[in-house]
Amino acid sequence: MDKDLNNFQVCDRDLDDATLSRYLQAEAIAVDTETMGLVLGRDRLCLIQLCDPDGYVTAIRVEVGQTAAPNLKKLLETATITKIFHFARFDVAQFKYTFGIETQPIFCTKIASKLARTYTSSHGLKNLIMELTGVELDKSAQSSDWGNADNLTEAQLSYAANDVRYLVPAREKLISMLKREDRWELAQQCFQCIPVFVSLDINRYNNVFEH
Ligand code: MN
Repeated sequence: MDKDLNNFQVCDRDLDDATLSRYLQAEAIAVDTETMGLVLGRDRLCLIQLCDPDGYVTAIRVEVGQTAAPNLKKLLETATITKIFHFARFDVAQFKYTFGIETQPIFCTKIASKLARTYTSSHGLKNLIMELTGVELDKSAQSSDWGNADNLTEAQLSYAANDVRYLVPAREKLISMLKREDRWELAQQCFQCIPVFVSLDINRYNNVFEH
């Protein structure tokens, strides 16, 4: 585990009340998930990572068959707190499908990157965080068994924590770039479309906007 160990906690099934209260004070919360794979409805949600602007990270271990997380729902549906994701469409669909959570409002660093960083085609998290914060993420635990929740390794937990730790500063930089290039309004309109894409994904529609 890295030096931020004391700014990191693991909890089971849901946020505890004290951590919920802490996160409800934040203007924005970074969010990520780890799953058994990328197929919605087949591959279950295993871990949920949250980080506030002070860098306080919580990893929630989800149980097999779990269908509710009331404190997480409260946080993700609170309208005054922006939830920051990298590729929000995937995580927001997981939350809606698994727990019936309607996440809002949303900021997606991948969409923001595609709108702002038109000088590159590299919009993965590692590339984005490297350019905007100078931090090199270690993605070696990305493809690992997240379902073995009681035995997650330190490497896995460290990886999971780092996936949310730099999203708050990345968002600040992206907002500056989007405003500078007069693309901020379009970005916000794109974020507002994410719940529609999530509903289409859950209902297994493909390409309804195509010819
Ligand atoms: Mn991740």
